[in-house]
Amino acid sequence: MTAPLFSLEGRLALVTGSGQGIGLGLAEGLAEHGAAVVLNGRSAESTGNAAGALRRRGRTAHVAVFDVTDFDAVDEAVERIERDIGPIDILINNAGIQHRAPLDEFPEAEWRRLIDTNVSGVFHVGKAVARHMIARRRGKIINIGSVQSELARPRIAPYAATKGAVRNLTRGMCADWARHGLQVNAIAPGYVRTALNEALFEDPEFSTWLTQRTPAGRWGNVDELVGAAVFLASDASSFVNGHTLYVDGGVTATV
Ligand code: NDP
Repeated sequence: MTAPLFSLEGRLALVTGSGQGIGLGLAEGLAEHGAAVVLNGRSAESTGNAAGALRRRGRTAHVAVFDVTDFDAVDEAVERIERDIGPIDILINNAGIQHRAPLDEFPEAEWRRLIDTNVSGVFHVGKAVARHMIARRRGKIINIGSVQSELARPRIAPYAATKGAVRNLTRGMCADWARHGLQVNAIAPGYVRTALNEALFEDPEFSTWLTQRTPAGRWGNVDELVGAAVFLASDASSFVNGHTLYVDGGVTATV
C-alpha cells in the first residue's frame, strides 16, 4: 500500500511525449500510485493505444494530441484539459528528441528541431500549465533532463546543450514559481533502453563501453525512474525545489 505521503490519489497528471518510452513508463507509474493521467504525443494512434491499455488495467487515462513545439496548440490543449478533464496537478515535461552527427557537420534544421522540442517545448507547456497552478497556489512540474544535462559526448553536442538548458530552466521556473506554491524539479535519467537510443543499445561497442563506464554496471530500465517521479509528484517533496535528481546508476558521480 502506498504511504499517504507518496499517494497521488485524486491528482491529475499531464505527461508530454507519453505514447511510448520513458513518458509512458512514468505515466503508468503515476497511475499505479493513484493519479489520473493525460497522455500526450503528436500521434493519436500511439497515445490512444497506450491509454486503452492503461484503462484495461483499471487506470484513468485521457489523451491530448498536440505538438509541444506549437505554442498555440499547447495553450489550446491545456485550456481544454483544465475545462473538460480537470485541474492539472502534475506536469511531466518529457517530450524530447535526439539527433546524432559530428558537430562541424550538424544540420541547422536538426539544431533548430532539438531546441524547439527539448527546450522551447518545456517552456511552452510549463508556462501554459503554470498559469493555472499559480492561480491555485499549488502544482508539481517535473522536467526530464539527462546525464547530458551535466556531461557531453561526441556527436550529441546540441542535445547536451538542450539538456543543460533544461536543468537551468528548471532552476529558473523554481525562481519564479516556488513563491506561488509550485515545486519544479527535474529527473535526469542515465541510459535506459527506448526507441530514442535503440541504435546505441544494439551497438556492442557502445554497450560494452557504457556498462564499464556505469558504476551500476548496466543499462537502466524505464520503471526505475518511477520512484523519483512519484517522489517529486507527491507531498513527499513539498520543500524540494529547483533540484535535478540523477537516476543514472552513478554515471555522473564518476569519471
Ligand atoms: P522516445 O523517442 O521513446 O519517446 C519520445 C516521445 O516524445 C514519443 O512518444 C514522441 O511521440 C514524443 N514527442 C517527440 N516530439 C514531440 C513533440 N514535438 N510534441 C509532443 N510529443 C513529442 O524517447 P525516450 O522515451 O527515450 O525519451 C523521453 C525523454 O527522456 C526525452 O526528453 C529524452 O531526451 C529523455 N532521456 C532519455 C534517455 C534514454 O536513455 N532513453 C536518457 C535521458 C533522457 P510522437 O513522435 O508521437 O510525438
